[in-house]
Amino acid sequence: MALDNKMAGKDLNDDDIRDKIPLVAKDHPDHKSRFSVAGVEFGGPLIPVMGGPNTVENEEMIVKTAKGIKASGGHFLRGGAFKPLTFPYRSEKYYETREQGLEWLQVAKKETGLPVVTEVMDVAKIDVVAKNSDMLQIGTRNMQNYVLLTEVGKTGMPVMLKRGYGSSLRDWLMAAEYIALEHDRLGQQQQIVLCERGVVSNHTHRAGSRFLLDLQVVPAAQDVTHLPVMTDPSHATFWQPWVKPMMLASIGAGADGLMLEVHPNPPEAAVDPLQCSSLEQFDEMMKAMRPVAAAIGRTLDA
Ligand code: PEP
Ligand code: MN
Repeated sequence: MALDNKMAGKDLNDDDIRDKIPLVAKDHPDHKSRFSVAGVEFGGPLIPVMGGPNTVENEEMIVKTAKGIKASGGHFLRGGAFKPLTFPYRSEKYYETREQGLEWLQVAKKETGLPVVTEVMDVAKIDVVAKNSDMLQIGTRNMQNYVLLTEVGKTGMPVMLKRGYGSSLRDWLMAAEYIALEHDRLGQQQQIVLCERGVVSNHTHRAGSRFLLDLQVVPAAQDVTHLPVMTDPSHATFWQPWVKPMMLASIGAGADGLMLEVHPNPPEAAVDPLQCSSLEQFDEMMKAMRPVAAAIGRTLDA
């Protein structure tokens, strides 16, 4: 449904929708993109769940995590090989495993059959990340890196575009349009999934809450765009005990997919140990989510 607000600024108006996001905007109210990525369907009744660690730390842990995700019914393996750490220093404690991490993701994929989504931050690394993944993730910090969006779009690969933590829906959809334009130029269907991962707000609940999961943006985005919209409660809450309720709430809000951080031994996680869930917690969440999905005509089982 188009908005009739003609004010320039944060809100999308009819002119924006017509002139600035013609490709990602809906053509009609029921317009919804549906596409499969390595056999996992987005935009249909299935709610794909992507789980895995923040950082692909080593081969053993990523394979163990992938096996757990698969056994509990997860659909995608996530994990960062190239990481946007918020400070420049790398050490034994804070590291990226880069090309080596991508290889370990492929080992985990071979062992489990789970497709892989992983972040790409640098135009120079698009080729190697694309060769070793099924979906390219663009992180919150790069949502408006238009050169990266365009070059990622040119690969024709499926893309998961995280929302910038300070970005409006308008900015987010216009960023998605950069990728959509390249998919359109290639003459292919747009294969873009939007991911809400928490926004900065002064109304968080404790000093440690960096972000607030903006559940309202799920229906707000779905009003305007045909692209699937998913959420990432791990990065949003930054606090594991709140992940499960926000996973359930995301399904209730109509999310078309879920991402969460899962680690075989959370206290030992290299990055963000407070937000990641154990394999046991992941299994428990999958069990809790199934009836909620069923209640609204969705499913977690392909
Ligand atoms: C991630 O998914 O590991 C990540 C860094 O996410 P974000 O870009 O949302 O912070
Ligand atoms: Mn992370």
